[in-house]
Amino acid sequence: MKRSVKINNLVIGAGQPVRVESMLKTRLNDRDACVAQCESLLNCGCELARVALPRADLYEDLKYLVNRAKLTLMADIHFDPNLAILAMQAGCKAIRINPGNMPLNRLNDVIAMAKDLGAVIRIGANGGSVSERQLEEAKGDRAKALFLAVREQAELLLNNKFENLILSAKSSSVPECVRANVMINNYYPEFVMHIGLTEAGPGDGGIVKSTAGIAALLSQGIGDTIRVSLTDEPEREVKVGYEILKALELRQHGVNLISCPTCGRRRADVMKLVKLVEPLTHNLPEGISVAVMGCEVNGPKEAKHAKLGLAGTVKGAVLFRDGQTVGEYSFEELDDILPKFFNGKL
Ligand code: SF4
Repeated sequence: MKRSVKINNLVIGAGQPVRVESMLKTRLNDRDACVAQCESLLNCGCELARVALPRADLYEDLKYLVNRAKLTLMADIHFDPNLAILAMQAGCKAIRINPGNMPLNRLNDVIAMAKDLGAVIRIGANGGSVSERQLEEAKGDRAKALFLAVREQAELLLNNKFENLILSAKSSSVPECVRANVMINNYYPEFVMHIGLTEAGPGDGGIVKSTAGIAALLSQGIGDTIRVSLTDEPEREVKVGYEILKALELRQHGVNLISCPTCGRRRADVMKLVKLVEPLTHNLPEGISVAVMGCEVNGPKEAKHAKLGLAGTVKGAVLFRDGQTVGEYSFEELDDILPKFFNGKL
């Protein structure tokens, strides 16, 4: 039976939708920027954001942010038990720590406080932090070493009867990350798991890497919360996260905008049409499909499952709804017609 954890009002695991996370990229002492980034992340659907607490003198800034932000936050600590305790004192109901690097007596203090406050602890290992000993025990298998690192950390908490846990193992290698998470899931099938690649990189490469790893795990039923880690704005991480969940049909978020890749039959500049259509779809009901196709001969047929669509013609575009043609309009007319069409007034 899968467990769940609750951070403020956010429940993760146990049949809940796969959650979408990000991490603040602003500095904690830039209070306005942090509050604004939380707001912006919340607006694009982010459900949990990690925030780094690298120094004790940022305690007041963290407290300020926790009190101001409507977004649920998890303090990112690593191995300093004093910072873990400060984060919980500042009001964070979730911390991410590396308990293997904490002195045992201080780890016990962290666990005792988390128990008192009902705080969630995420433990995690990443490819760069596995020890020589773990690598040796895994006979050089880096995925297995990653699993062993997580198991060591998890046992430290479980031996202390602390089970309000999220497990995570990350690597910048897709096969290594996938194998490590499969091993963790086999060993701890009931625990909540956070998944994602680490240091996936910028641009298309980063998106593909993250998608390959996250999708490979989610399609096996592994992963309760995801973060697409990109060298990019955090809002983009959230957007890509939802696109992965939509593509796997695990969650709906906004409309499903489909467009053809175009070919020699195209009658219109599909990219131009997509730019025209995309802003008009924001108020449509979640999950409906909107199609933008390059030609009127094949387009409506190829997109017959779409609720609303348009296909390029020599003159402009033909609009269709539920597979039925609504009319053909010139490019000049489209500026005026499209808002009416997407508002249901045509
Ligand atoms: S809809 Fe038309 S233009 Fe687009 S890929 Fe299909 S045949 Fe080509």
